[in-house]
Amino acid sequence: MSETYQLRCRECGKFWGNTPKSFCEECFSPLEVAYDYDALKKIARKENLASRDFNMWRYSELLPLPEGFVAPNSAGGTPLVAARHLAKNLGVKNLYVKNDAVCFPSLSFKDRVVATALAAARRFEFRTVGCSSTGNLANAVAAQSAQQGFDACVFIPADLEPAKILNTAVYGARIVRINGNYDHVNRLCAQIADRFQWGLVNVNLRPYYAEGSKTHGYEIAEQLGWTLPDNVVVPMAGGSLIGKIAKAFRELVLLGWVKEKPVKFFGAQATGCSPISSAVKNGLKRFDPQKPNTIARSLAIGNPADGNYASELIRTSGGWADDVSDPEIVDAIQLLAETEGIFGETAAGVTVGVTKKLIHAGRIGANETTVVCVTGNGLKTTDAIVSEYPLTEAIAPRLDAFEAYLDAQIGASAAAAKV
Ligand SMILES: *Cc1c(COP(=O)(O)O)cnc(C)c1O
Ligand SMILES: [Zn+2]
Repeated sequence: MSETYQLRCRECGKFWGNTPKSFCEECFSPLEVAYDYDALKKIARKENLASRDFNMWRYSELLPLPEGFVAPNSAGGTPLVAARHLAKNLGVKNLYVKNDAVCFPSLSFKDRVVATALAAARRFEFRTVGCSSTGNLANAVAAQSAQQGFDACVFIPADLEPAKILNTAVYGARIVRINGNYDHVNRLCAQIADRFQWGLVNVNLRPYYAEGSKTHGYEIAEQLGWTLPDNVVVPMAGGSLIGKIAKAFRELVLLGWVKEKPVKFFGAQATGCSPISSAVKNGLKRFDPQKPNTIARSLAIGNPADGNYASELIRTSGGWADDVSDPEIVDAIQLLAETEGIFGETAAGVTVGVTKKLIHAGRIGANETTVVCVTGNGLKTTDAIVSEYPLTEAIAPRLDAFEAYLDAQIGASAAAAKV
């Protein structure tokens, strides 16, 4: 092939070149981007990274970008936090949080996938781009489209969190609210992509979109000093991210940038939408679709496009999947905030809550290195926890009022201790 990458069917292996298409026309299986790794070995060099900024574009050779591509932003490049207090709380030694709650520009890992999808949209000369979204994707499409001059039209379930709707509207994107859940929205978008000349990032551009997730994995390996962790715990919606982190690790081994090592993949879902974790726990080869009902709306996909690939990866890697209830999600959001000073969204509560469960069940060992993927920002899902923090009574701006307040709050002993 003239380029180092092209689309290939995940099942029958047929190549399709580079085109805005996500399904094989022969066998109706999903397409993914396949690379000529011999060619990549010659052009992708670890030494080149030294002079590049720490964002997702430092790995450009390993992404499906058009020739002459110029990085339009600095998405990615998020911190890997050594989570010592959380580790102690959970009873393990080497725990890290990969913190995409601060991903640029829209505060979730979806900025990575939109970045590669829009590169493809430009290459295929789409003027209008869009997506079906559980929230974060709409934010990322809207923000990056505004900056890059695309018209954006996003499709969302009508009941999405107000902050996520506002975080889309502010960039001037057209928002179409659908009376239905994500799976209804997604089905409609497949028809729209057929009818209109639009680049829907997670529909007809899905193979290019999904590759952006690999950069989350490359960064983890680089931030661990070019080593792989023993375990990764990943939140799952469509089940794409978890597979792309695995692909990233495989590629780094292939390129000789890290030493080969078994990595266990752990998947996290909300009990109220757990088709993938249920399949893993029940030993099913194919998941049963569900009707979502959870506060973790960013993960509320009842019919996950990559669900069966995700559960197969989890099984074959020796990992596991589990799910947590809505109250456990809220507890875990608070735990992460109180131990590490990181305010994650409901998906982060899912991931941290499931990590806790896996550690207590002995599936994650105390001495192993574990990375917990925090993928979105808590400021977008405040409605999920607002009732935990009722406002206190306001007081007069006077010292005696504050003293009276302290007395009432902490009692006489604290008031005495101040003298
Ligand atoms: C979309 C999303 C995910 C999961 O992504 P998939 O690749 O669809 O599994 C995880 N966390 C957050 C915050 C998301 O918005
Ligand atoms: Zn095929």
